[in-house]
Amino acid sequence: MASYTTVSDADSQISQPDALTYWESVPATVNSMLGGYPQISHIDIRGSLNFVKKLCHLHSSSATNQFTRGVDCGAGIGRITAGLLSKVCDIVDVVEPVEKFAKEVHEASLAGKGKIGEVYVTGLQDWEPKEEYDLIWNQWCLGHLTDTDLVKYLRKCRGMVKEEGWIIVKENMSTDAEGKDVFDKVDSSVTRTDTKFREIFEKSGLVILKTELQSGFPKKLYPVRFYALRPGSDQ
Ligand code: SAH
Repeated sequence: MASYTTVSDADSQISQPDALTYWESVPATVNSMLGGYPQISHIDIRGSLNFVKKLCHLHSSSATNQFTRGVDCGAGIGRITAGLLSKVCDIVDVVEPVEKFAKEVHEASLAGKGKIGEVYVTGLQDWEPKEEYDLIWNQWCLGHLTDTDLVKYLRKCRGMVKEEGWIIVKENMSTDAEGKDVFDKVDSSVTRTDTKFREIFEKSGLVILKTELQSGFPKKLYPVRFYALRPGSDQ
């Protein structure tokens, strides 16, 4: 399907109503969350768990990979809460604009001992957090925010991440030959380049402490990159 277009301001084409219309129209399943590749979920979760372990080993004073409070941002049906965050956090809050997905989060069987806390049925651009977090997990949802909204949102994250906490971004990377972001009209989202993400993090006052590619996904999918972010000291 010729649904991809690359323009210099791909994000100007994002429509939140179109995105919500798309997500409301698909079933509340792992298959929908992963765009027809449900089999990659366990590879994804295992990669994320390893990434968190490495982070804690390298950068935390306690070196345990257990956090008090985490948040699953753009959580969908809570796939990541169920498989990852409930293992490494005592309490996991959830932010998801589509109500039928958010409802599923309570049904999800959690792999760990963590419990679900607040469920916010809202988009990240409108979310008003009430807590501070040790782990703010953003995966496969930031393409629904324009560049401007993404900077505002990440600045909000900057203010609500605890000292020694982490803002994690795990997103697809554009492989466009001209190095541009790619708009996908099916779900009204953009796939950004690594360069664009780095510019956005800088504008948001965040520094990258660790970044790596997820391994083991099918070659035909976009590369997926992790970024572990913390507030920069100078802003
Ligand atoms: N992160 C989950 C879900 C990915 S699917 C996972 O990896 O399993 C993308 C999700 O982003 C959908 O649940 C969709 O409803 C949500 N979404 C769409 N617009 C959003 C917005 N503005 N803010 C936060 N989430 C959004």
